[in-house]
Amino acid sequence: MRFIKTLFRHFKLISIATIVAIVVVLGGWLLSKYLSPNLPVQSNPAASSNLVSPNPTSSSPSLATPAAPTDATDATNKPDPTQQPHVSGKPYLGHFPYPEADRSRLMIITSYAKGEYQRFESMDIEAGKALMKLIYAARDEGVWIIPVSGFRSVEQQSKLFKAQIERRGSEQEAAKLSAPPGYSEHATGYAVDLTDGKFPKQDVKFEFEQTDAFRWLTLHAKEYGFEMSFPQGNAQGVSYEPWHWRFVGSSSAAQLFGRSTN
Ligand SMILES: [Zn+2]
Repeated sequence: MRFIKTLFRHFKLISIATIVAIVVVLGGWLLSKYLSPNLPVQSNPAASSNLVSPNPTSSSPSLATPAAPTDATDATNKPDPTQQPHVSGKPYLGHFPYPEADRSRLMIITSYAKGEYQRFESMDIEAGKALMKLIYAARDEGVWIIPVSGFRSVEQQSKLFKAQIERRGSEQEAAKLSAPPGYSEHATGYAVDLTDGKFPKQDVKFEFEQTDAFRWLTLHAKEYGFEMSFPQGNAQGVSYEPWHWRFVGSSSAAQLFGRSTN
């Protein structure tokens, strides 16, 4: 009887010890689980303040580091569906899809307007150099040709096209005057809108046709590798744009516009 009694007491002790051991192990695991995420959170402000403090002393890394995350978020925020259509190669509302220019190849061709409206226009270096030759050749004959609009990003074109839709009422009507984003020759850096310096208010208007600049262009633009993209009755069905010219004077440029030869 006594033996059984002591055995029972031992069993009681063993089971209590086991329960205590389980509680200790479980408690330790729970503590480690719930305390560990707090550790980085607590150390984070210290870490970030450590990162911030050296920034004012070393200016270049502080400038470089914020740029990277903003670029990255911009890239993820912008799905750029407008840049994709050219992959299919199909025209949309009468306009052919075009890839955006290689920005490292862009050169400034002029500044247009003044004060707060002043902007700098650029073109692909190949087209830009040819345009400079054209402009100076015209000047020698007393004709003043001014570039109004050169390279346009897909984003800029998107804004322009939206404004045109608001003015014209529909995408179809807007497309007669502006190309949808991803479909503008201006995105390539090889197209330019020109005006006559003596009649600067006639840019992007049909009256440009009446100017010396236009007359000179129709006679000589070809010699410098330029052609009117949308002459009257063009096969693309885009409305006549006497001010809009494109560079086709190199094999790469000619290839770019090969689908829409007039
Ligand atoms: Zn144009």
